[in-house]
Amino acid sequence: MSDRAYNFSAGPAILPEPVIQQAQKDIWNIFDTGMGVCELSHRGKHYDRILEEAEADCREVGRIPDNFRVLFLQGGATLQTAMIPMSFLPAGRTADYFHTGKWATEAIAEARKFGKVHVCASTEKGVFNHIPSPAETNFSENAAYCHYVTNNTIYGTQWHNRYPDTSAPLIGDMSSDMYSRPIDWSKYAMVYASAQKNLGPSGQILAVINDDFLATAPEGKLAAMLDYQVQAKKQSRFNTPNTFAVYLMGQVFKWILKEFGTLEEVDRYNTEKANLIYDYLDNSDFYVGHAEPESRSLMNVAFRCQTPELDALFIKQSAEHNITTIKGHRSTGGMRASIYNAFPREGCEVLVKFMKSFERENG
Ligand SMILES: *Cc1c(COP(=O)(O)O)cnc(C)c1O
Repeated sequence: MSDRAYNFSAGPAILPEPVIQQAQKDIWNIFDTGMGVCELSHRGKHYDRILEEAEADCREVGRIPDNFRVLFLQGGATLQTAMIPMSFLPAGRTADYFHTGKWATEAIAEARKFGKVHVCASTEKGVFNHIPSPAETNFSENAAYCHYVTNNTIYGTQWHNRYPDTSAPLIGDMSSDMYSRPIDWSKYAMVYASAQKNLGPSGQILAVINDDFLATAPEGKLAAMLDYQVQAKKQSRFNTPNTFAVYLMGQVFKWILKEFGTLEEVDRYNTEKANLIYDYLDNSDFYVGHAEPESRSLMNVAFRCQTPELDALFIKQSAEHNITTIKGHRSTGGMRASIYNAFPREGCEVLVKFMKSFERENG
């Protein structure tokens, strides 16, 4: 891995090395045009090609059905938490929200500015250490939509093999696990993801919306930048888009196709990587995992030692092994190893090796 660190950052996170290398070239001169990728008109034919390929590859990777629209928007997942209720929560209706972590909390707070919100389940009492069971969940009647976070980046919990059992249109915030595994589109009205975890640079959104659901958004009433219908009609370039972000996401999609072929293969690789760490955690009395085993995330592994002093020592000494950005979020403490698609298996092995030697010395 040459001069690169084992970067466990939760986001902006590690990118695939071939993508960075390609971008280094294309920033200088792309398609032999004598121009760099950031220097192309967003209405010119070279950017047309970048956008077309990015969407086509995005569809191929995700096996997105034809009746879903792919939008590349700005403002991150945070702007989606406002745009969604502005567009899909009409007066007099209620939206159901799962309260499973910090990003869910923020989505709820934002939605409340625009309409009526019902929290259908909350795991706050257990410091968000699990995904709510159907028995813990209580949907409202005839909700306008149901919003949930598929992977809770900070607490390291993830929905596995089941979906919220709602009859309302389902919206998933997939910011930290988009394209880490296959997606069953029949369950969703809409999914969205900030790019900076698994898909590219920050500030960028990938939103995938069912046509019938999109048609229920108001048209021409909101600020144009916040209007899904305008963005869809203008191919995500109502204004000057972040052309570099769209380019870079396109490169990440190409990398997934070349390196893995399918999301089943990506999932297999991610499962293998996460299990290296979880198997070790399960057999150790020294470390404590944050999430309950059946809710554990394959993307973010949150764990800690027995004391904050040992956590601090762990973070300090692990840096000597080229392990960076592994400090946990302030709300969980301890450590968090974010091991998105681009994170190499070798880095997980290095981490486990260090965990063993640290336990031996301090246990
Ligand atoms: C990172 C993250 C967000 C926030 O994304 P921004 O790009 O900062 O708006 C929202 N939801 C989840 C699940 C995240 O991981």
